Amino acid sequence: MARIISVANQKGGVGKTTTTVNLGACLAFEGKKVLLVDIDAQGNATSGVGIRKPDVVKDIYDVLVNEESIEEAILPSSREGLDIVPATIQLAGAEIELTSMMARESRLKSALEEIRDRYDFILIDCPPSLGHLTINAFTASDSILIPVQCEYYALEGLSQLLNTVRLVQKHFNPGLKIEGVLLTMYDARTNLGAEVVEEVRRYFQENVYDTIIPRNIRLSEAPSHGLSIIDYDPSSRGAQVYLALAKEVLAREK
Ligand code: ADP
Ligand code: MG
Repeated sequence: MARIISVANQKGGVGKTTTTVNLGACLAFEGKKVLLVDIDAQGNATSGVGIRKPDVVKDIYDVLVNEESIEEAILPSSREGLDIVPATIQLAGAEIELTSMMARESRLKSALEEIRDRYDFILIDCPPSLGHLTINAFTASDSILIPVQCEYYALEGLSQLLNTVRLVQKHFNPGLKIEGVLLTMYDARTNLGAEVVEEVRRYFQENVYDTIIPRNIRLSEAPSHGLSIIDYDPSSRGAQVYLALAKEVLAREK
């Protein structure tokens, strides 16, 4: 039975998609069977693992809104052991359409139940908002991985995120946990980076991963080649740190 983890933070550009794709690829590299679920209309996780628009037969919109079978939406990625349920721009309409639908919070949960026993991990790449799509992800998940960018106001907005977690725990998913807080885009050359690390550790304590993701140019180049970092440049610092994160996630599971 797969562990289902949402990668979420309503701030854009904090490293959600980079983390979903590369943690997923590194877990697959470690021999795990992994499914990514792209629920951001930007479709960056989808293109990031090598899926082009013509490859997409059905996407997550068809699953959530039209209640089509998730099985038919699953595609293999450029990395062995890593599959994806893609998103396309049609998902942009889902936030509004879900508002008036039956069981709008639990549609993703119901869909994932069909295929959960085929994977070890299911990672959901959330959009930069706390709307119906993110609520669906939290309702379907065992836990939430929160990437936090090492910059000014790093903690800003996180109380809103934690409020949403509490609401979902109360109404839809009492077992929902914080998987971990991941510091991203760390720059060792500035004092700011170190200050943010200290501040986030003070606030989230042992929930913060020991692995810190530095800024690494290879991580930003890989998506335009449709490859995860371990397929694009396995010797890069980016590949090393995401492999270390995968090992930490696996060790914490035990
Ligand atoms: P989000 O999904 O939270 O919006 P992304 O993962 O798309 O964030 O990251 C935002 C941008 O920063 C992307 O262009 C991505 O390639 C880049 N990026 C993410 N993490 C790193 C990193 N550790 N080093 C360098 N660039 C990064
Ligand atoms: Mg993203």
